[in-house]
Amino acid sequence: MTDIAGAPVQELRGVGPKLAGKLADYGIHRVDDLLFHLPLRYQDRTRITPIAAAVEGADVVIEGEVRAADIVFGRRRSLVARLQDGSGTITLRFFHFSAAQKNNLRPGCRLRCFGQPRRGSSGLEIYHPEYRQVQEGEVLAEESLTPIYPTTAGIGQNQWRSLCGQALLRLQSSPPRDLLPAGQLPYDLAQALSYLHAPPPDAPQALLREGHHPAQLRLALEELVAHNLSLHRLRERAQQEGAPALPARPRELEAFLASLPFTPTGAQSRVLGEIAADLARPCPMLRLVQGDVGSGKTLVAAGAALQAIANGYQVAIMAPTEILAEQHWGNFSGWFEPLAVDMEWLSGRTKGKKREATLQRIGSGKAALVIGTHALFQADVAFHRLGLVIVDEQHRFGVHQRLALTEKSSREHGRPHQLVMTATPIPRTLSMVAYADLDCSVIDELPPGRQAVSTALVDSNRRQQVVERVAAACAEGRQAYWVCTLIEESDALQAQAAEATAAELQQALPQLAVGLIHGRLKPVEKEAVMARFKAGDLALLVATTVIEVGMDVPNASLMIIENPERLGLAQLHQLRGRVGRGSEASHCVLLYQAPLSANGKQRLSAMRESSDGFYIAEKDLELRGPGEVLGTRQTGLMEFRIAELPAHNHLLQQVQDLSDQLREGYPELIEPLIQRWTGAAQQFAKV
Ligand code: ADP
Ligand code: MG
Repeated sequence: MTDIAGAPVQELRGVGPKLAGKLADYGIHRVDDLLFHLPLRYQDRTRITPIAAAVEGADVVIEGEVRAADIVFGRRRSLVARLQDGSGTITLRFFHFSAAQKNNLRPGCRLRCFGQPRRGSSGLEIYHPEYRQVQEGEVLAEESLTPIYPTTAGIGQNQWRSLCGQALLRLQSSPPRDLLPAGQLPYDLAQALSYLHAPPPDAPQALLREGHHPAQLRLALEELVAHNLSLHRLRERAQQEGAPALPARPRELEAFLASLPFTPTGAQSRVLGEIAADLARPCPMLRLVQGDVGSGKTLVAAGAALQAIANGYQVAIMAPTEILAEQHWGNFSGWFEPLAVDMEWLSGRTKGKKREATLQRIGSGKAALVIGTHALFQADVAFHRLGLVIVDEQHRFGVHQRLALTEKSSREHGRPHQLVMTATPIPRTLSMVAYADLDCSVIDELPPGRQAVSTALVDSNRRQQVVERVAAACAEGRQAYWVCTLIEESDALQAQAAEATAAELQQALPQLAVGLIHGRLKPVEKEAVMARFKAGDLALLVATTVIEVGMDVPNASLMIIENPERLGLAQLHQLRGRVGRGSEASHCVLLYQAPLSANGKQRLSAMRESSDGFYIAEKDLELRGPGEVLGTRQTGLMEFRIAELPAHNHLLQQVQDLSDQLREGYPELIEPLIQRWTGAAQQFAKV
């Protein structure tokens, strides 16, 4: 189905059906596709280094005469050869070798070797060099830097080099089609590709390593444009399917708002209005609501849900963790029960008869509002008339999961509308590439009376003082969180660590009621602990990062985070957002383990300096890169072949402009561009 002109790879020397099959796994079907399989890095084999000039850790080509070759019996048996040129000698060491190999390395024979010297027992040594016998004066074959290609098992470097080399030869007579509007780019496509597959010996290697060579920028630009276009296309396809028009229901909305103990902030009202207008249109809403922790996104979700329900449609709300889903359940039951809305709960733990009954009520349309975890998009869940899907904490879900839920509706009414909410503000630069398929609303105002949380960095050797501080705060009737972190993903280990900390703190603070919450507790147990903390029966709550989202206890005004250097900024910001919800001044103590890395220091300082989620997100992006910022499950979306963010941030404006130009003036180029860069990935994106 590709319409890129080009011969199939089988036309190349050495490519039979088997290798063609392996190449297909890389999305490489045509000779041109090979050109876009770009090297990761390069080796310089273009000149011979005198042995005396070889340095530890740097690849070199050396040439010399074998002086001695012996099997040495040390801690490990090895074959050791001494190689000498006019400048000095070096040791070649082989731990794996054959008898033939030993016999070939006769004193007096001349070898050319490639490898990386390291410091060994006899001075500089090269372990397992690549080598071959040469005649004196034989010229070096390599005229350009040697590319190292990304590969997994099955295709070796020499194979890649031969394949790409053949593709490069063909490029000279039939260059791949330039798909970007001409005249504004520093390099043309063929130039950039030839350069990157075979850079000249004097190529600026440092620039190439950093991805800032103009040839790389040329391709990165094209790749980002292709990516942006593919998101736009996803969006257009969704829009073509249509959606139920759900007109605004001002009477229901006003009645609901009037029942609340507060009035919406200006930002909440504005976003509610934007969503109401989207829902009224007969094409699916695809809207991302960004709002800092505590900005009141739940209310906005409720307004949207109400509009769909009042129009006779079902609404699904999906949260990434049970605790958060439970929190929503609590809020929505309080708000919607007086309005007689039928609600259902569905999580992975809803099993057996109960699950059957729940699925039945979802399938028949009796359930108007369904709240749950990712269990909502399992295969056996079918909705009757799903009109709106709300996904909370978007960054935890991949784009594929997001799309999967919208497939859940019977299609007579089109696609359901979609609202995704995230408390991790996505930096604008990143959202342009990661979320070009979504409209954006920002709740840029906190409810009145919130106070900024003051944040302190404390070395863990002053832990005792921190414990005393907890005692003092609780003595004044305040409540506190103590968050334990572990690098391990395992719930069991995290739970263990939290248990140990809780026991230790209870012993140090016998006068306080200490509670414990972690991911291994049963939902009822978790609920009970949360209820006791909320009611003020517990003064100190020891927790794993499960409390990151969903805890809302205004009287809690102190948070201790142990080993914060292990967490990303976005996660720390989320955690810290659990305090500062009441009228009291709140504090956060980052109890770090010294010594901090330079990066760790910068991250924690950013936390101390700012409570602005957008600032923190930009810092996070700068310090950790987009994969981490968007959450690991999202990284598939952000795996570029050559583009790298944030290193290529400065290209993003041009990406946007080119993408607009193509969509307006050159629509016929869009499909080939997307195919070229995302051919293999596209198939998954369709779900
Ligand atoms: P988040 O955006 O982090 O999901 P929530 O929706 O949980 O925030 O809201 C945080 C808290 O603020 C909740 O207790 C909620 O009831 C309260 N809240 C929301 N909107 C307002 C408002 N306009 N005025 C006062 N409090 C509000
Ligand atoms: Mg929330």
